[in-house]
Amino acid sequence: MSKKEDKYGRLTRRQFIQSAAAAAGASVVGRAHAHDDDHHRDHGKDRDEPHSECELILINGRIHTMDDKNRVVSAVSIKNGRFFEVGSDAKSLRGPRTRVIDLRGRTVVPGIIDNHNHIVLMGNRPGFHTPLENALSIKDVQDIYAARVASLPLPQNGEAQWITTIGGFHFNHFYANPNDKMSGRWPTIDELDAATGGIGKHPAFMMISFTGEGRTNTAGKDALTAVGVNVTKDGVVAGGFPSSECTKALLWLRQNLLNDTERQRSVLDAMNHALTVGVTTHQDQGAFQATNSINDGAAHEDNYTMHIPFLKVYDQGKGSIRLRINFLHMESNPDTPELVQRLKNAFQFLGNEWVKTGSIGEFIAQGTSTLPTSPFVQAAMKVAAAGWRAEVHSLGRRNTPTSNPADFEQEIQTFEMVDQKYPGLVRERRWVVAHVPGITDEWIKRLANIGGNLSLTGWQYLAGNTTTSSVAPYAGPPFRMILQNDIHAGMSSDGMQIAPMNPWIHMYYATTGLNARGVAINNNAITPPLGADPKVIDQRITRQEALELYTRKNGWFLREEDDLGSIEEGKLGDLVVLNSDYFTVANDDLKKIRSVLTVVGGEIMYDAGVLDTRRW
Ligand SMILES: [Zn+2]
Repeated sequence: MSKKEDKYGRLTRRQFIQSAAAAAGASVVGRAHAHDDDHHRDHGKDRDEPHSECELILINGRIHTMDDKNRVVSAVSIKNGRFFEVGSDAKSLRGPRTRVIDLRGRTVVPGIIDNHNHIVLMGNRPGFHTPLENALSIKDVQDIYAARVASLPLPQNGEAQWITTIGGFHFNHFYANPNDKMSGRWPTIDELDAATGGIGKHPAFMMISFTGEGRTNTAGKDALTAVGVNVTKDGVVAGGFPSSECTKALLWLRQNLLNDTERQRSVLDAMNHALTVGVTTHQDQGAFQATNSINDGAAHEDNYTMHIPFLKVYDQGKGSIRLRINFLHMESNPDTPELVQRLKNAFQFLGNEWVKTGSIGEFIAQGTSTLPTSPFVQAAMKVAAAGWRAEVHSLGRRNTPTSNPADFEQEIQTFEMVDQKYPGLVRERRWVVAHVPGITDEWIKRLANIGGNLSLTGWQYLAGNTTTSSVAPYAGPPFRMILQNDIHAGMSSDGMQIAPMNPWIHMYYATTGLNARGVAINNNAITPPLGADPKVIDQRITRQEALELYTRKNGWFLREEDDLGSIEEGKLGDLVVLNSDYFTVANDDLKKIRSVLTVVGGEIMYDAGVLDTRRW
């Protein structure tokens, strides 16, 4: 947290927190994390009670601190939720409640921070949403679905339950032949039946991206057909924009399966999934406002209520990841009345270290027009006047010097207008442009000049290619060109619709330039981005650089660089013990990296059972 951020703010952070009681009723804000005696974790009830001994000591590891000296140490201890000692031995304070874990040489990294994703959508999925982002074969898909069926909680176990996967994957990585990356395809209806307990048992529905296409099994086909969704005999559910058979199915699933209890269960599932891939902090970037019609795709939800199941989970002391909540605004009225009320009645960065508000993003208004009277410019000026941060996204590019300006050009031009009127504000408030697959060297420099920042996303891994279309999918972002510039950059997944959440997949893409089909789309096989140094056509970055973007650099993105992003004494005790050594495994094995132990705030939140974690 920046200590000198009051120049444009109305209140200091302390004053924000003092105002929490007054604000809580007026907006979605982080509530105090429960620290009562009925905490469900045995060691969780001590979360906010200071004690004199360490709760956790890890020894004999290869602990990559990701501090600014890139120190690698063998031992670390955590006391009262924060790193206490970071070094080569473990002489830290031990007591009866201290857990000492021998890492047996395993690689440890700081808890991964995802500066831009949509985990709140994932926690509001209908049915037993089952991420398929980690499936690398048809058999993997079947195994993951079969495991989900086998683990259905009582009393649902035994009854037919919808197994769903709404976005976050692509059939490109469901390899029919695991040795052939070009063999990706959808599972057949028979394969899905076999994976879900046999014909007529559990209905299943999976769809890619915002509006499909999708697939279902026999039970799902029967149920969906009965409510008017067109499904082929092979279980194909057509996609399309803006509405489709997939969005018809999705509307029915939402209206018939979702309730408060189910949403809270889904939140816990989403948090658990995040922990298995090592993402301990998530900055959520909102949803398209739901219309409760077949025009709603996978990215639609009710922005006014979708955080409630998350806040309830935190209130119950069951929150296991850190959540930052941005407010998405997409008004087409240049007066942006809703944004005006948000800025008056909500607080940015309000909450506690587990859950707190972010600011405005990933949209601030409809469009990116640079006309002074446009909703975009009007909104940017209002966000600036209130001293808030703005985050916007860019998916565009300019194919020739004479084609229409790309969205990032208009966004950066608008940021420059803001900087003119409020000198230094973009820099101090850390305004962000996200994704930027098509950004050019000239515009990186212009954004850097006013202190703006870039969030880089590797989602082209799923379906990116080397076409010259002016809209996604295509390759990028130009990681190397961005890192060669003097600009703050961090990394994000933009999961859960068009991209996986799994950060190791994004790091695979950033470091290899290969998409899911094994095609080189972001390295020296492509032509340089327009305006790039022609000598710099390979946009790959190193593993060290990619991990830095996902850890230390992202602590800065969240304005929490004093608390998050590296393993350093005094910072929050978030770390991940990996199943293999990120720094030395073969490229393909990067995609298979998982956590064997995820620690958040000194608590073991996920334990794969690989290490001896008993207290002794
Ligand atoms: Zn997004």
